[in-house]
Amino acid sequence: MRAVIFDLDQTLLDREKSLLDFLAWQCEGMLRPYLDDQAAFVSRFMELDANGAVWKDKVYSALIDEFQIEGWSCAELLAVYESCFCAFAVPRSGVLEALNAISPHYKLGIISNGMTPFQERNFRGLEIASMFRSVIVSAAVNLRKPDAAIFHLACCELGVRPGEAVYVGDNPVTDVEGARDAGLRTIFIPSKTHPICTAADASCDEMSRLPQILNTITG
Ligand SMILES: [Mg+2]
Repeated sequence: MRAVIFDLDQTLLDREKSLLDFLAWQCEGMLRPYLDDQAAFVSRFMELDANGAVWKDKVYSALIDEFQIEGWSCAELLAVYESCFCAFAVPRSGVLEALNAISPHYKLGIISNGMTPFQERNFRGLEIASMFRSVIVSAAVNLRKPDAAIFHLACCELGVRPGEAVYVGDNPVTDVEGARDAGLRTIFIPSKTHPICTAADASCDEMSRLPQILNTITG
């Protein structure tokens, strides 16, 4: 094995914590005059967001109606989300330790289904960018996981064959089945939303264990 390619949200990025911290800041700074119950707003945001599946124009426009927010438009709240979320981006626990351990031995890449340049900015917010040789965001290349072509593009940018790469991600379909069908080995990251994935070569419930798990599947 010569390369390890990662998903971003809930794999390298602790998206839930990053989002909750961002929302606390947005509530306190922009929305305080309009909200009696900030906790209710945050909890409804998380529900409408559906783990990132729904883009925030829809989320904010529903929230403006439901909480009768006057004074900010959907476009204004969205613009602040797009430009400021990255300042709250934090890695999952154990990620920095794992990357430091594996980066001398493998070429590292990222494939994220998401908006550009939003996801690139969030990735840079994690301050791990210098370790990565390939960063691919779906909207920028007009391909999305689980399309095999996006996995092959990442391998091509890293100069490896699919059989020489491992893909690490938290979504059983777009990450694990997509990468497997493209010819890569796979490591699944369990979460509350998807606790199990039988299609993966291995699972990694604590990121600091990743180097050891990589050894077992590539050894
Ligand atoms: Mg993910």
